[in-house]
This record gives sequence, structure tokens and C-alpha cells, in this order.
Amino acid sequence: MNLSDPVESIKGVGEQTLKKLNKLNIYTVGDLLYHFPREYEDRSKIRKISEIEYNEVNTILAKIGTLPQNLKKGRQILTKVNLRDDSGSLFAVWFGQPYLKKQFQLNDTYLFSGKVTFKYGQIQMESPDYEKVAEDQNIFARPIIPIYPSTYKLSQKIIRQLIRNALDETQNQLIEFLPLWIRKKYQLADYNYSMNNIHFPESDQSYFIARNRLVFEELFLLQMGLMSIKNQMDQKRKGIAFKSISELGEFIRSLPFELTSAQKRVVEEIKKDMISEKVMNRLVQGDVGSGKTIVAAIALFIAVKNNYQGVMMAPTEVLATQHYQGLAPILNQFNIRTGLLTGSLTKKQKENILKQIKEGEIDIVFGTHALIQENVAFKALGLVITDEQHRFGVRQRTILSEKGSNPDVLVMTATPIPRTLALILYGDLDISIIDELPPGRQKIDTYSVNSSYRHRVYQFIKKELMSGRQAYIICPMVEESDDQELQSVISYTDQIKHEFEEYNISYLHGKMKPKEKQKVMEEFLKGEIHILVSTTVIEVGVNVPNATIMLIENAERFGLAQLHQLRGRVGRGQFKSYCILITDSKSKVTMERMKVMKKTNNGFEISETDLKIRGPGEFFGTRQHGLPDLKIANLYKDISILKKAQEACIEVLNMDPNLEKEEHQLLKSRIHQLFSEKIKEISL
Ligand code: ADP
Ligand code: MG
Repeated sequence: MNLSDPVESIKGVGEQTLKKLNKLNIYTVGDLLYHFPREYEDRSKIRKISEIEYNEVNTILAKIGTLPQNLKKGRQILTKVNLRDDSGSLFAVWFGQPYLKKQFQLNDTYLFSGKVTFKYGQIQMESPDYEKVAEDQNIFARPIIPIYPSTYKLSQKIIRQLIRNALDETQNQLIEFLPLWIRKKYQLADYNYSMNNIHFPESDQSYFIARNRLVFEELFLLQMGLMSIKNQMDQKRKGIAFKSISELGEFIRSLPFELTSAQKRVVEEIKKDMISEKVMNRLVQGDVGSGKTIVAAIALFIAVKNNYQGVMMAPTEVLATQHYQGLAPILNQFNIRTGLLTGSLTKKQKENILKQIKEGEIDIVFGTHALIQENVAFKALGLVITDEQHRFGVRQRTILSEKGSNPDVLVMTATPIPRTLALILYGDLDISIIDELPPGRQKIDTYSVNSSYRHRVYQFIKKELMSGRQAYIICPMVEESDDQELQSVISYTDQIKHEFEEYNISYLHGKMKPKEKQKVMEEFLKGEIHILVSTTVIEVGVNVPNATIMLIENAERFGLAQLHQLRGRVGRGQFKSYCILITDSKSKVTMERMKVMKKTNNGFEISETDLKIRGPGEFFGTRQHGLPDLKIANLYKDISILKKAQEACIEVLNMDPNLEKEEHQLLKSRIHQLFSEKIKEISL
């Protein structure tokens, strides 16, 4: 049996079960085996009913004392069963699962595991997991039992059995793909041992040994996958050696402000790269509002004064236009010719600008994805900049670079990511960090309130509008949906019109035509629109320094990264700014997020906290980067394994860059299997 065999080849997977497995994204034997336990139950800790700890999960070995009853509780059915052992008795209760009534026979013995409470004068075990125990069964033979993550109507028992079957059917014949020398060097357990012991550990220690290997494996494969595409991208290395430009000082002095020392440092780092004949491959990370755009302009200036062209690509038309409108005037003063290329130009305008780019009559082009189309050709492209790079795939950036001959590349991002993730993603990129905001910026005060405060919040917004400021209101939806709870941009705008009678309100969302969006943004920038109700289209990059209020409706709908980006739309000028998060959700994750938002304005701190709040799997930024979810590694806890995995990866690639050696063939095919499709979408 192979990992890539369909999961229905495993005994016990019928049509119904298959459907449920598919809902869990399990399609192959490999998917099933990599569906790792979320936690384990230790049966050596079975308690007598008389020794139960309240408000905790307890495991008991008990007999069915009375036949189950289905009782009506409001609109739901409550199933109740009496359980007893020789020390006492309690009730097991389940909601909305009336079929359980037929499940239990009087006097049969089960293991039950669930949270025990004392309610209405009774001891209750709430929705326990259960497993039948046969007369002659020694339940202590393997005391550690896996508990699987949300198993979508598959009971723990069934999923456990399926995995047991899969392991039995693969009969310890899973093919080891980690080279022996790596396993020796890093003391990693064998593949079959690890798979068996992650699901059904023989002991605590064998679990740790198994986990260690599987975490290493996961991080190592991810790193290998990423490095191998980068290797492909970095084949040709010799780039342009730009010359120092004496006019640069004058250009910088002409700016309306003095660069912060962080900006100055980053400019120096970029200058050094550009002057060297190595191809620059640099990431500029800087929190929202730290002033990355002007740093880009300086790099473009250097390229143009060396008689090359430069290009700056942004993920949205709004942002590309903003770059163009903001930078063209300062660049024009130094006789630099600029242009804007987006999807919404007329055919004529487009032809015209394409011709100018090709003949070198334009020095710097700003634009959107339109820039990577085939018909865009440069005369001498020397510098490629992508802003908000997490919105672009590797391929898109490569296509743009290939329009020149080894141009220098600068990518900019405001999405702070945890250091560990940065290590994985950008291990081979040079990173510059702008870790300072321009002077005079004040902390953005952040509040989180429930919707009963909405009216008071509006009063507050009015006060700000009266002193000449502007406000954003973010809603999660474009149009009214079935989900009554979610605020939508269009109806929200209607609703607040009477509340803010004397002000201009307009809305913005991704489904509008580029021209319309542009018009709204321009009016907002000029201050003609006072309140802009918007979806997250304004999430990245938009710069309107006079806006001081960011009100976010249904804040529970947004991740921390997004909330932080949205908040970054205010506090961009000299005025005190506010971010108000409205949510009625009381979920733990939401509460934690709100707490972090209130506590800090620092994107890096936020991203680190996010990593702590979430377990493995989902974590800050991975989705945005299109990375596969991690199934077992936890980037917060497993840093030391990550370092080893990276070290191993570098070692392999130094020794055998294209994985041609015999001993690396299985590894190579495993990487292909995992990444061949995904890798193109990943944005680095
Ligand atoms: P981001 O890093 O989020 O892209 P921007 O480049 O849009 O930030 O800059 C945010 C605002 O700060 C802009 O209005 C810009 O003109 C201003 N700014 C940038 N650098 C400085 C500086 N050194 N001093 C004062 N204002 C600055
Ligand atoms: Mg920006």
C-alpha cells in the first residue's frame, strides 16, 4: 500500500465514511495517516467514580446502569445514561444525538472520557467519548489512546479504527524517504516506528521520539520545497553594478521631511546591494506607516540615474495609483519620466504607454498585475520593486524580473511575520527592517466594544469629523447576505446616512469598477468624502493622513494580521488616531485577539502573540503566503527542531543541489508529491 493510494482502499472505509473523511480533507492513505492526534488520553489514569475531579476531563471504566433515556430539553433532545462502577454512579449526557439511545446495552462495560460537572444535584459527564470494552480485553496493554481533531461526525472510535487498519495494512512497509545520513546525524526515528507511535504510542517516551521525527520531517520538507524553487530562480547570478549617484543627496534633501534613521540605514543597505554586481534580492519589512514608499523611490532614483528603467508593482489599482500620484511629482523635478499602467486604461492609452516603456521614453512605471502581461517590454529594466509582496506569487515576481536582464529586486511588506516563519520563508533573502515610525506619530488608541456601544461610537466619530478629520468604517460583506449578523457595506452606508446627515458618506468594495474605486479614493483623499465605508479592499497600503478613525464592524471576522493592517490606515499623519473594534463574539480566540490589539501597536509583537494563541496548523500569515498548513510542527515550540531542519536542508543542497544522488531519490519524489502543484502559488 502506498501513501498516495485512495483512502477507500483501507478496510472499513465505505461510501458514507468516505464522504465524511473527504470533509476532513482526507482523500488518500497518506492524508489519513497524517491526520495526527490532537491529544492523548492516558488510561493509566482511569479514575474511580468516587475519585472524580469536577470541571475536568476524567476517564472512567463503568458499566451501563440503566437503559438510556431521550428527554426533551427546549428544542433539543438530551440523551441520558446512568453509569456505575464499584465506587459510585453518575450520568452521562449528550445533546442532539438521540441515536445514542440504541447504542448502549445494560451491563456492558465502556470506557468513558469527558468533562465532569455537578449540576442540578447530579454528577454529570458531558458528551463523553466512549469505547466498548470486551470481557477479556486488557485495556491497560496500551494505555495511551489518541484523540483526533474535530472528526466531523466520525466518532473517535471509528477514526481510531481506520487509522489502526491503515497502519496494519501498510504493515510497516512505509517507505523511508529521509536519507540515512540525516537520520543518523539528527537522531531521527525510523518512519514506520514514528507513524505507529504518533498514533498509538507505546509510552510517553516513544511518543516524543516519534513526534520529534515527524516535526523534523515536516519542517525539513517545507524548507526543501521552498529552497528548491528559489534555487531555480537564482540560477543566473551576475547582475548590474550600479554607480553611486552624486545627485542623490540633493534628491533626498528635496523631500518634504527628513528620513528617519531606520530609513537611512535601509537606504544604505539597498545602495550597497545595487552598487555590487550581485543581483539584489532584498526584502524590506517595515510596519504599516513606517515609510517604505520613499525608500522605494530612492532606489528607483538610483536606477534611473544609471540609465536604467525601474518598475514598481502593487497589488491593487488604488495602491498603484497612489504610488504614482505621490511619487511622480517629486521624481519629475529631477527630469525623471513616470507612467502608470493598470487594467483600466483605454486601449489607446495603453498602446501609447507600452510604446513609451519599450522605447525608453518612460523611466519608471508604476502599476498593477497589468505589468506582467506579455506585451509589456522594457528597453533596459534595471530595478524591480513589488510592494505588499505577500499578495503576489513567486511566479508573478519572476515574470516581472525576466523582463530585464538580471535586474535588482526589492520586495516590500508591511505584514509582520513571526521570526520563525521569516526564517522559513526568507532564509536566503537579505532582509532590511524599518523599525521606527516617522516622528510625531502618536499611538493609535484601540478599543473593543460590543454593538450596544455603536451609538456612542458614532457620537465620537462626529466629534472627529467636526474638527475636520475623516473616518473609515469596515464591514465584512459587500451586499446583504443571509447571515443577518454580518454588516454589509452597501446597506450599512444607507443605514448611517441619517445619522450623519451633514456629512458625505461613500462606499468602496472590490466588485466596483476600477474607475469608480479610483473616483471614490480621490474624493476621500481630497477630503470631499468624510466617511468611507469599505470592505478590506483598503487593507493594504492606502495612505490618507487626515483619516483618524478606523471603525471595524464584526471584528471577529478578521484575523490579527488583517486587523493590524486595517488599523494601519489611520495614524498616518500628525493627528491622534483611534481604532474601534465592534464585536459581539465572546469566543476565546476573538477575546484574545481584541486584547492583543488593545495592548500593542507593534506588528511584530502582534504576530508573535498570534503564534502563541494558535496551535500548529493555522498560524499568522501562512494562508496569506499560500503555504500548506502544518500538521504537527508548532513554530512557537519547535524552533530548535526548525533550526536543525534548516541546517540539514542547506547541507543537502550544498552537496546535491538538484537532488540527483541515488540516496536522495526518495526524498526528491516526496518533495514533488507534496509541493509540485502548490509551489507556484506560494508568495515569497
Ligand atoms: P508604508 O511603510 O506603510 O508604506 P508610507 O510609505 O505610505 O508607509 O508612509 C506613510 C506616511 O508617512 C506617508 O504619508 C509618508 O509621506 C510619510 N513619511 C514617510 N517617511 C517619513 C519621514 N521620514 N518623516 C515624516 N513622514 C514620513
Ligand atoms: Mg506602503
